[in-house]
Amino acid sequence: MKTYKYEFSHQSNVIQIGNLIDDLHSVHLHILRLQRRYYRIYGKYASLSRILKHITKLKRTTKPHWNALPSQMIQDVAIRIDLGYQRFFDNIEDRKTGKTTRKVGKPKIKPNHKYKSVTFTQAGYKIEGNRLTINCLKKSFTFWKHRDWTGSIKKVTIKRDNVGDYYLYIVCEDCEPSEKLPLTSHEAGADFGSKTFLTLSDGTKIASPEFYKQSLKAIRVANKALSGKQYLSNGWYRAKRHLARVHKDIANRRRDWFFKLALRLVRKYDSIAIETLNLEGMKRLWGRKVSDIAFGEFASILEWTCAKYGKTLLKAGRWTATTKPCSNCGYHNEKLSLSDRQWTCRNCGSHHDRDVNAAINILQAGVPVS
Ligand SMILES: [Zn+2]
Repeated sequence: MKTYKYEFSHQSNVIQIGNLIDDLHSVHLHILRLQRRYYRIYGKYASLSRILKHITKLKRTTKPHWNALPSQMIQDVAIRIDLGYQRFFDNIEDRKTGKTTRKVGKPKIKPNHKYKSVTFTQAGYKIEGNRLTINCLKKSFTFWKHRDWTGSIKKVTIKRDNVGDYYLYIVCEDCEPSEKLPLTSHEAGADFGSKTFLTLSDGTKIASPEFYKQSLKAIRVANKALSGKQYLSNGWYRAKRHLARVHKDIANRRRDWFFKLALRLVRKYDSIAIETLNLEGMKRLWGRKVSDIAFGEFASILEWTCAKYGKTLLKAGRWTATTKPCSNCGYHNEKLSLSDRQWTCRNCGSHHDRDVNAAINILQAGVPVS
């Protein structure tokens, strides 16, 4: 299965897709509020069939405009909420019997700005060339078809982001597999760091581009403009969208750099070992810097790239010591402090760069991810 993403071109009628999303949000609101009321009165939640029957009745009485929405989509909203309730109650049982300790929350009412997608499973749309027709709107929308998709279309999702841009996601199955890259019989361990983004076990160092720092000024200006505006005024919304656009721009540049770096590594090495990340702990240690460097995002992009081109990603266990042991003899240097960039092993006398030593240890401890 593959997902292809296309941006809708900026035309005045895309606002109609936004209206469709908002209409479905009103269905979402109505069902969840109904469930709350029902629970207050009867002490249980209403079943899916009951909700669906109720919706049919509403279409005849107080909500005739819902008839203009595809009934399959309305059903989908109800089904998703019902699944949420089932997961919530199953989880309560599971925690009682001790099957799990993880807690699943009750389905929440989403505010309008967090409700941002519609999904077509089989019917209700048509795609011809670079145009998507939505039957219930009787309108077509152009998207930038920068590449062809392969396989057969399973479902189609339209998403609206914070900036107000619309994207088309086409999920296909039975896609043509991508071409694998030739094997090079090289392998490498990689250590993430705050100063250098990546240190490889062969000594290569890749500096962090620090997009966030470069754009910090733009963010500060945008934030300041927002805080000077009257809350919920037109100017406030404009400033908020601008701030979202600045953030989106940084994220785009960062992701682009990540994909290019991952491809470079995958071309050169057959297997790459990384450590299992403890992101919460890193945030506490380094503060803002971590969201800048976004190791987690890079790790998942690297995993995806490895799988695509037929290379292997190895992961060292979360509790593996990587910094202190000597990669040559295994002696633990307990005296190593955070400021020591270089050190010499007391046992075997080999001289280490702190990060390269860690990268070698990661390579030695790495096991393939399933
Ligand atoms: Zn040693």
